[in-house]
Amino acid sequence: MELIKTVAEMAALGHGWRAANKKVGIVPTMGYLHEGHLELAKTSVANNEITVMTIFVNPIQFGPNEDLDCYPRDLAGDLAKAESVGVDYVFAPQPADMYPKTYSCSIDITGVSETLCGQSRPGHFQGVCAVITKLFNLVQPTNAYFGQKDGQQLAVIKHLAADFNMPVKINGVPIVREADGLAKSSRNVYLDEECRKQALVLSQSLQVAKRLYDEGQRDASMIKAAVRAHIETAPLAEIEYVEIVDALTMQPVGKLEDEVMLALAVRFKTTRLIDNILLGGEA
Ligand code: AMP
Repeated sequence: MELIKTVAEMAALGHGWRAANKKVGIVPTMGYLHEGHLELAKTSVANNEITVMTIFVNPIQFGPNEDLDCYPRDLAGDLAKAESVGVDYVFAPQPADMYPKTYSCSIDITGVSETLCGQSRPGHFQGVCAVITKLFNLVQPTNAYFGQKDGQQLAVIKHLAADFNMPVKINGVPIVREADGLAKSSRNVYLDEECRKQALVLSQSLQVAKRLYDEGQRDASMIKAAVRAHIETAPLAEIEYVEIVDALTMQPVGKLEDEVMLALAVRFKTTRLIDNILLGGEA
């Protein structure tokens, strides 16, 4: 496995692969890798000739009061984990190389990025779209892998790639969870023992929703009320949103007809966690 640290080196490799018709998979991450990230990498390794994992804590997708400065980092540990699942290249650039002083573009996707996290994290998806566009241009991937854990991000990137005719297939990978159900996340390290215990209400509440759905409930407000009630059994949980949205457009629905995503964002003290479940799809 090779570590690429500069934009120039990455561009030279990526454009070489495109010219040679190589099948290249990209796995964009912010590092501090866990099994969720590694599942994405394994899927890429199994389906491409070359896999590039990117590790970059993208400053422009963080708001002024968010956790950019304390976001967990461990490049040495990440390199060992990436190598263990067969990643060929890790691209870990410096912020000043990605965003030189001359950088001035912003990508604004309406609709799909305006609900859920788009409301509580203004500018977040503009930052995500910018970094992903840059990474796609540098790596020139055939396939890109994103986790369903960040379901709205996956929907936004699908729109980005389609709207700008990017020659890359966007692949979603199911959520990887801890044995007790908590969705794996780099931010789980922020949770103290009590918060970690109470955070189980998130995955449990998704199962409450699934049970209701399986029993035939199709009224979004009934399902959301049951989910809220379950989350509120945890005294430390502060709900930011519980919403049911169309799985493609991310717009709220009143009745569950086509595939929907039940999405939630909940704070435990200073830690903000998200989770979701898809209901009504073919799978
Ligand atoms: P992050 O480093 O948090 O930006 O995540 C990088 C990628 O890994 C994103 O596409 C996430 O959706 C994905 N990811 C993070 N956690 C999980 C998980 N528990 N299961 C599946 N994918 C995940």
